Amino acid sequence: MSFLRDSSIGNKLLIINVVSMGLAMLILVLSITAIMFASSRNSLLEDVNNQAYILGESLAPTVLFNDFDAAGALFEALPPHIEYVVVLDQAGKKFVAFPHHAEILADYQTSILEHYFSGIHVSYPLKINDQPVGLIRLGASLDRIYNQLTQFLLFTFLSLILSTGVGIVMLRKLQPHLLNPIVGLTKSMRLISHTDNYSLRFHLNNKDELGELAAGFNTMLNKIQSNQVRLDAELVRRKEAEDRLQQLAFYDNVTHLPNRHFFKERLERVVSSTLRHNSSCCVMLIDLDDFKNVNDTQGHHVGDELLMAVSQRINKALRGSDVLCRIGGDEFAMIIENAKDAAQVEFIAERVIRLLSQPFVLHEKEIFIGASIGISFCPVDTTDIPTLLRNADNAMYSAKNRGKNNFQMYHQDMEYKSMKRFTLENALRRALELNELFLLYQPIMQINSNKIVGLEALVRWNNSELGVVNPGDFIPIAEETGLILSIGEFVVNEACLQMQHWREVCGFEGMLSVNLSGRQLFKPDAVERIIAIVESTQYPYNLLNFELTESILMDHSKETFDKLEMLNNLGFSISIDDFGTGYSSLSYLKRYPINTLKIDRSFISDLPQDLNDVAISNAIIALGNSLTMKIVAEGVETKEQAEFLEARSCDLAQGFFYSKPMTVSQTMEFIMARLESSKMDIAENAVA
Ligand code: C2E
Ligand code: MG
Ligand code: MG
Repeated sequence: MSFLRDSSIGNKLLIINVVSMGLAMLILVLSITAIMFASSRNSLLEDVNNQAYILGESLAPTVLFNDFDAAGALFEALPPHIEYVVVLDQAGKKFVAFPHHAEILADYQTSILEHYFSGIHVSYPLKINDQPVGLIRLGASLDRIYNQLTQFLLFTFLSLILSTGVGIVMLRKLQPHLLNPIVGLTKSMRLISHTDNYSLRFHLNNKDELGELAAGFNTMLNKIQSNQVRLDAELVRRKEAEDRLQQLAFYDNVTHLPNRHFFKERLERVVSSTLRHNSSCCVMLIDLDDFKNVNDTQGHHVGDELLMAVSQRINKALRGSDVLCRIGGDEFAMIIENAKDAAQVEFIAERVIRLLSQPFVLHEKEIFIGASIGISFCPVDTTDIPTLLRNADNAMYSAKNRGKNNFQMYHQDMEYKSMKRFTLENALRRALELNELFLLYQPIMQINSNKIVGLEALVRWNNSELGVVNPGDFIPIAEETGLILSIGEFVVNEACLQMQHWREVCGFEGMLSVNLSGRQLFKPDAVERIIAIVESTQYPYNLLNFELTESILMDHSKETFDKLEMLNNLGFSISIDDFGTGYSSLSYLKRYPINTLKIDRSFISDLPQDLNDVAISNAIIALGNSLTMKIVAEGVETKEQAEFLEARSCDLAQGFFYSKPMTVSQTMEFIMARLESSKMDIAENAVA
């Protein structure tokens, strides 16, 4: 039946029709044949019965008188369908037969069915005056009936074939009325499913089930189409949502640059392609210097704007194939594919530094930041991505330690240094508790009189494992981690107590200078905390000077101004430390209450030979004098330098020429010795 399942509806209809009609006709023909057979046999039976009766009446006397001839003559008039006649006498013996060899077969020799279909057999008693004289048995053949039936069947089958042919032709002619709508509907359905065009419709005006089917099909399409429209809109919305998620997952909200996640995936691809193509790539980590200051003083919105501006500037240094990502607060990372040689990468790094060194103008304020850059190459330094990143990070910290605003290429020594940094950071957290911090003091001298006018307190950290660590190694970490707040307070407290002691014991009335970090000053309650500490030591305000670096004053914020103003009004002094190294703008000198400029030692060290340094130190001294500020030359190491400065009206100096930073006891000795020599000078002058 599978061929029926897979054939077309037209063929199915044809087969079903032919088979069902054929079967019906066959049943009809067979029924008619059976009826015809039965009625013809009945007629023949009646006829044979009549023959038996007529023959019996005539044969009875012949049997009685044993007249064989007369009996035989009677047989001559028999109709042709009488097949045999057997006459038995009273004793049951065969008297005469037609044909003469005919015998009476016992009925039990044949089955009823066989008996019925084989012919007609009739018995009739022979009587004379109601006295039995014998028996006559007649048989008739059914051949004539069978012949007639065969002809009938032949004719009907011929008619059947003819009518089936006509039926098939008619069916073929009429089928389209039924099939065309179905075929059309099927075609429409195929077209729609191939083209996904749900605006197509199938038009059929029939009022029958097919018309209903077509209308239902169209209604279904209407629904699908409107669902499709909704679905399309939903898909668009989903796509947009996915894009947004993608944006959030892979891009940074503030700068719109790719984020850390993107960076990692991209780096994996670039490194594997680099290794496949035997080429070279590098990672450049860019960390903004002093970005925290901007965030702390200007607020986060300015910080965000600055990050945006920074990302735009760095982008200018990139080639088309380089990728810039923001991977942390103030950390950017660049992947440089096909980095041919170090010189090319150096060129990019220099460009980034140059671009970021220019001031940013945000909300009409100039903001200065710089960048420390670390670079590591693949495969030269490593082929392992985490190591590549660690290398770049180490190189970046090395750049920071070298005074910021520079770049460093990774080399193996940095590994040790970075370990050192990690160890430092952990140990520093416990330094205060363990009492490991202490102060050294470096005198500030009046050049012409060689008198001690003050002391700068310089912090040191004596760690059991690391030994004595210099502030250059741990102050940047303390600033990053926030530990500088408690360290700074420790220094102010310790130095004031010590100075108060020297005042009382030695009568030393010199100035105490303490370095203040930006993070300390930017704390909202900075002034209150300083006052509380100084108050507790009873050290006079007017003998305390705070050293600030230029970068701290660069934010030009009202808060910083107010704090410095307040400190100044209370009697404290303010110095600009390392003056000349920081920033190009000098406008803050006018604005803030500054008492002293400390010329950075980089301008002193090559005096008086270096003409540039001569020019710069001259200019700073002239500037300070004209603003009525005191000038301290830092890092004076030789007599020559001291004399040069004295000749240029630089009043004060600090440096190894006078003394290195000293311990408490050394400082006390130094103070006592100087005070003694001053007294002697006074005495000599008096004698003179
Ligand atoms: P600074 O405030 O400019 O201190 C002067 C630095 O110059 C000191 O280094 C001092 O030892 C060094 N120095 C002085 N005279 C000479 C000289 O003639 N030649 C040379 N080559 N160096 C000289 P130090 O003690 O290592 O301090 C380094 C920096 O660490 C300081 O620079 C200051 O910025 C910071 N620092 C030190 N103590 C503190 C502190 O208590 N708080 C804060 N926030 N920073 C501190
Ligand atoms: Mg200082
Ligand atoms: Mg200094």
